Amino acid sequence: MPRDPVCGMNVRDRDKSLRSEFRGQTYHFCSDRCLSTFEQDPETFAQLLEDEKSQKQKRRKKQS
Ligand SMILES: [Zn+2]
Repeated sequence: MPRDPVCGMNVRDRDKSLRSEFRGQTYHFCSDRCLSTFEQDPETFAQLLEDEKSQKQKRRKKQS
């Protein structure tokens, strides 16, 4: 399930109006408000999501 990079909620990708593309990546949002927040500063939120992903990968590696 895609993640809303603004509030961190898991969102359904069925709602095609609540998404935004940035650098070839599609981001999904729970609400108009999160979408417009993202669009004000897409770079920051895209980076947040990336950081989170790489942290999870590191954690996974430690456990195994
Ligand atoms: Zn949200």
